[in-house]
Amino acid sequence: MTKTILLTGGTGFIGSHTAVEMIQEGYRIVLADDLSNSSRKVVDRIEEITGTRPAFYPIDVADREALRDLFSRERLDGVIHFAGFKAVGESTEKPLDYYENNLGATMNLLRVMEEFGVKTIVFSSSATVYGQGGLMPCTETMPRGVCVNPYGWTKSMSEQILTDASAADPDLSVVLLRYFNPIGAHPSGLIGEDPQGIPNNLMPFVAQVAVGRREELTIFGNDYDTPDGTCRRDYIHVCDLAEGHVKAIAFGEGRKGVEVFNLGTGTPYSVLEVVETFARVSGVSVPWRFGPRRAGDLPDLWADPAKATEVLGWKAGRTLEDMCRDAWNWQRNNPRGYEGEE
Ligand code: UDP
Repeated sequence: MTKTILLTGGTGFIGSHTAVEMIQEGYRIVLADDLSNSSRKVVDRIEEITGTRPAFYPIDVADREALRDLFSRERLDGVIHFAGFKAVGESTEKPLDYYENNLGATMNLLRVMEEFGVKTIVFSSSATVYGQGGLMPCTETMPRGVCVNPYGWTKSMSEQILTDASAADPDLSVVLLRYFNPIGAHPSGLIGEDPQGIPNNLMPFVAQVAVGRREELTIFGNDYDTPDGTCRRDYIHVCDLAEGHVKAIAFGEGRKGVEVFNLGTGTPYSVLEVVETFARVSGVSVPWRFGPRRAGDLPDLWADPAKATEVLGWKAGRTLEDMCRDAWNWQRNNPRGYEGEE
């Protein structure tokens, strides 16, 4: 029988790519998103790619009545919880907004799941929960660390809330997915990352420089203790990440307890390597200069993804070239993002 899965934050960057993979795997998908940081056009684009239009509820997941209404209309088999504020810098300026919104959404969702007897949840967590100063690569057996910003704490605290809820309800199945650095876009060029305002993250900034929306990239620091002096990260293609969610929901269904998985490639690349690869693959020059370090950046961060391979049968297969090519294809086709189209 067809399973129905709710994706909160379903029109966002990772949510939309996961929706495509899930539909293609035969799931029925329900999207909930208040559109505070995404576009309604994503629903059309998902339909264009898959030939199937997902159900869409333009609601805030922290709104109890709106979420109850959704749960009473849809017979859900599970939830993937993406919804949340995600701008690291902004979280430092507005910490209460971040705690209220991100923790409020997680708790509201758990309350309504409990009320309607929905027992499977996959949570969108982050490598940021490992905190500072750990040994690389990160393994799931390492304890969560001291986060460097409120955004990171909301992920760490949500993991704790979900873990405690699972301990109190032996029927609950919780899968915590710790993402490393998701970049790239669907190869169709129809969905991709569309940040509001000046991008905080490396790849959308690089892509906007390439398409002429920004003059040059500032590389934050060249004096780190790394091979070329710039920071290294575990960049993962968003379609590989989406496939990880398909595996995670299938794994989570029908089991009990908490399981945590890193979703990364296991191979770090430096900022300079990313910029050079993007320029080579796109054939477009990306002007850059070195600037000072950005507060809170770790020199190195990468995953040991072995557990996801062993337990979920998942492995990230796409290369840095694939990530750059697909990010560029999205940016070139949608120079001003979703709202820029006619
Ligand atoms: N970065 C940079 N310039 C930018 C944005 C990011 O040099 O305009 C660097 C940043 O210092 C980090 C890497 O790119 O080393 C990835 O940053 P991003 O914000 O994409 O992800 P994070 O690893 O911080 O979550």
